[in-house]
This record gives sequence, structure tokens and C-alpha cells, in this order.
Amino acid sequence: MFSYYFVDKQSIPFRVVSAFLRLGKKYDLKQLYREAFTRLHHDFPSKLEAWDANALYDRISFQAGLEFDTINLLREVDIPLFLPSAFVFVCQDVDFDVHEILGGIRRDDSSLALLSMEDSAILLRGRQTLMDRQAESTFIWLDDEAAGDIFPDCAQPPKCAAAREKIFYSLWHPLPLCIALADWDVRWEARLCKECIRQSKIKHHDGRQQIWKELPSIFGFPEWQQLPKE
Ligand SMILES: [Zn+2]
Repeated sequence: MFSYYFVDKQSIPFRVVSAFLRLGKKYDLKQLYREAFTRLHHDFPSKLEAWDANALYDRISFQAGLEFDTINLLREVDIPLFLPSAFVFVCQDVDFDVHEILGGIRRDDSSLALLSMEDSAILLRGRQTLMDRQAESTFIWLDDEAAGDIFPDCAQPPKCAAAREKIFYSLWHPLPLCIALADWDVRWEARLCKECIRQSKIKHHDGRQQIWKELPSIFGFPEWQQLPKE
């Protein structure tokens, strides 16, 4: 018999989490398995509210290649529930690099964290879909052609249109960012009229909800409700 004690809210290294999960599964050690499962669920949530409240690396310490290692571990032990958020974390990285997706990421000990070819393809396709969808959902309020319908009561149409164009430019140039789940940013409100702010926030909020709902299918999984909870 052995016992252990961890401060729940402290992060622990990935290698410990993966050992707990593998051993817990193999030898049916429920406490170990639960410890690892809970930490993974916290950092790679399956609910948008948790995604908004939590931070990556809260329960599992940062290390280079962590997201790739996590995806591989979740595949190995067959826990698809956390894979959509693990994939989306990689997609929305501001330093997203196709060469890393295909060639791997060097861990601190200089070994290579590498995704399978199948998961690399899922990731690249998923990121493309997210970026197509973000323009139609989360950021539909930046679409010039939709402005007439979304902001019929705008107090200053030319000024607000120019403000939206500036925001669009900052997010889409020189290369578009993958921001389908980005939070509302108060800086966007600077030059918009009150009515445009109100309507834009509603569209942005609804768009994020919609993207979250679609997230599993974007990465080739069944809907959230159909993913096993254990
Ligand atoms: Zn306006």
C-alpha cells in the first residue's frame, strides 16, 4: 500500500500525470486515474465556461511540446473528451507553425514531441475550418456586408464602419489569427457607438458558443454529448 498527497491547485509535471493515467488504467487504481483525469479535464476542458475560467498549465506544468504529448496520451488511453480543446489550444497559438505540426517540437530534454500523421492532418484541417468559421460566427460583426442587418440603429454608420475595418485589419493582417474562441476585447469598443458595441458583443458571444458546440466535429469527433465522460 502507498499513499500520496498533492495540493490540488498546484501544477505537476506531465510525466507524473501520464504515469498516473497509464498505471491507473492498467491496474484499475481509481484514485491515481481520477487524479490524472481531473487535472487533464481542468486544463483541457469540455465546457466553454471552464475554458473561460481555467488556464492552460494550471494543473499540468508547462513544458515544450505539452499539447502534442497530451494529444498522444489521450489517444493512447482513449479519452476523446479532452481532445477538442487540446487541438484548439495548438490551433490558436500565436506562434502556430506548420513545420512544428509536421516535424515535431523539441522538449526541454531535446527529445521530440511528435504528432501522428493522422492527428497532424486533423489539426491542420481543423485550424483551416476554425478560421473559415470564425469570420462567419464569432467575428460576423466585422463583416461589412452583414453590417446593415446587424446594426440597423447605428448612430454613426461611416465612423463605426471605419472602426470595424481597423479591427478587422489588426486581426487578419498580415496573416489571419486563429481566434474563433477569442474573448471580447474592450479595446474594440474605442471608436464604436453604443448600439454597435451592444450588438457586436451579442454576435461575438453567440458566435463563440456556436464554435464551441461545433468544436468536436471540427476535429472529426462526435458531438460533445456523445463523447464518453469517463
Ligand atoms: Zn455604430
